[in-house]
Amino acid sequence: MTSAREHPAQGAALIKDEALCLNVRPFSKTSQMVTWLTAGHGRVTTPVKGAQRPKSGFVGRYDVGYTCELVFYARERNGVHHIRECAPLALREGLRGTWRGAEAAAYACDLTLRTAQPGMANPALYRALGGLLDVLPACAPHEATLALLWFEATLLHAVGLGPDFSPCAACPPAPRRLFSVEEGRFVCGHRPSRLRTPPTLTLHDDIPALYRRFLAHPLAETLADARAAGRRDDLGRPEPFPGVFGLRRFLGVFLSAHLDLPPGPRRTVLDLLIG
Ligand SMILES: [Zn+2]
Repeated sequence: MTSAREHPAQGAALIKDEALCLNVRPFSKTSQMVTWLTAGHGRVTTPVKGAQRPKSGFVGRYDVGYTCELVFYARERNGVHHIRECAPLALREGLRGTWRGAEAAAYACDLTLRTAQPGMANPALYRALGGLLDVLPACAPHEATLALLWFEATLLHAVGLGPDFSPCAACPPAPRRLFSVEEGRFVCGHRPSRLRTPPTLTLHDDIPALYRRFLAHPLAETLADARAAGRRDDLGRPEPFPGVFGLRRFLGVFLSAHLDLPPGPRRTVLDLLIG
């Protein structure tokens, strides 16, 4: 879906690419700054001048969660480009019909905005976010939570920041191990931490197992398996796979340590999904 040719007037390559709209924010009375995850060029930001004027050709043509065909001039190097055309390909109206879906989508798009790099295609991340946005409208609240955890695990892996859950070969098998959050790996007497006072978490085996399961199976399959399992925890809460609550807590700590995220938005969206 990607093509480029030289634009004679400006000396800039004219790029046509598919893109997921991550964020729209005003930057003057009538203009907007739109950030995208493109299929072929990573994170792209396009100022849209006069976007909010009634006669603007861009009115209604993008919003958070849309997939669009985007035409832009690739001139600057910092990921900010001039937009020429934008045509919506998938509006995902269902996301706007449920406030839970809209909150979950906004959180996932924001997480992507913070991790995707300009100029670097990341097909796995692009697929994961598109897949998540497609399924969210039809998700029950606990399924949306599961879908978000799946997305967080997949995103971390796709951007190369995932935890290293390989166990120490010299230690005997154990149901729980000590994990160094900042170093992103298990620590033990054979592989001690390099930090003086490392923040550590004790992780039950089912947390790495669920993380690996997420990476190994597409989202739709994961949700189908969850429905088929129909599992509940001791308190009667839906817990389709062992380790869901532990992984939720682990990913919260891990994401805020590695992505410099404020903890508020994630907690808010996950609490909304449960409530
Ligand atoms: Zn060891």
